[in-house]
Amino acid sequence: DELISQIAAGEVVERPASVVRELVDNALDAGATQITVRLLGGGVRLIAVEDDGIGIPRAELPQALKRHATSKIASLAELESVGTMGFRGEALAAIASVAEMGLLSRTEGEGHAWQLEARSGELAPGARSRGTSIEVRELFYATPARRKFLKSDNTELAHCIEAVRRHALARPDVGFAIWHEGRLAAQWRAVPLPGLDGIARRLADVLGDDFIERAVPLMWPADGSDARGLRVSGFAGIPDAARARADQQFAYVNGRFVRDKVIAHAVRAAFDDVLHGQRQPVYALFVEIAPERVDVNVHPTKIEVRFRDSREVHHAVQQAVESALAVPRA
Ligand code: ADP
Ligand code: MG
Repeated sequence: DELISQIAAGEVVERPASVVRELVDNALDAGATQITVRLLGGGVRLIAVEDDGIGIPRAELPQALKRHATSKIASLAELESVGTMGFRGEALAAIASVAEMGLLSRTEGEGHAWQLEARSGELAPGARSRGTSIEVRELFYATPARRKFLKSDNTELAHCIEAVRRHALARPDVGFAIWHEGRLAAQWRAVPLPGLDGIARRLADVLGDDFIERAVPLMWPADGSDARGLRVSGFAGIPDAARARADQQFAYVNGRFVRDKVIAHAVRAAFDDVLHGQRQPVYALFVEIAPERVDVNVHPTKIEVRFRDSREVHHAVQQAVESALAVPRA
């Protein structure tokens, strides 16, 4: 069982940034409005994520660390199928199998918080306001070989910041702060504006004012309807030659950051007349699609998706960008 969870962990937990992503994911799922990430040693020594979400009731704390699908994985051969099921309910268990982990949480109705140490299973009263704090210490402590594959603290920190940035672009309504070695590394305040206005403000905060000055707003269909269960919104633009960077391409499917060739190709196709393939467009693009038309479980970390009909998505994204570029700018 220990072996299986370590193998599963290897698919989910590659480096500190993978842990950050999963913990921030959970905080957002819990309805947090403010998420604070504290790191030591690029996240290898400590990753602590605090949120003000709904919390985990005392009785469910030990449950949160258990793999939901334990009984389904009887052999290594069956591990193959885990990938296709996705890793729902696997993240905390996977992280706890490769690091020291502590949970501190309090729900609305409880008089105080409860603290659970993953390794010992010890549950004790603790103190904090409503929400959850999860601490992950000494990542890969038991597997020095894997720890050796990690890069410098600064590189791991940069990946951690990138993981939070991806969440932050999609959730302007939530405030984020990242501390490293006691210093504030990045902070994005919650934006009290709805829809594309909120996204625009957050994009300016995260990617810089020049991003938003050069970008056009996307909205497809133009009237905002989603008659076919498919919508595209966001911003796309042509960077300054000097600032052209391939790492400023953010695509989201149903709110989740993805790396997707269909979307990337459609944006490039739309920009082709302007860019002639010489520069990378920059974009933050949100695709909303009916859940039955996309498979999110093709990759254990859900960073890749498979559309049931990739042509309709390609068409929608290309149309969204082309029609935005066709509008004369004020
Ligand atoms: P999943 O998110 O796929 O359900 P995880 O292993 O990431 O699986 O988390 C297990 C469970 O622990 C979640 O389903 C949730 O009930 C609980 N949980 C984890 N983190 C938090 C959090 N920050 N706030 C509230 N509940 C949480
Ligand atoms: Mg999760």
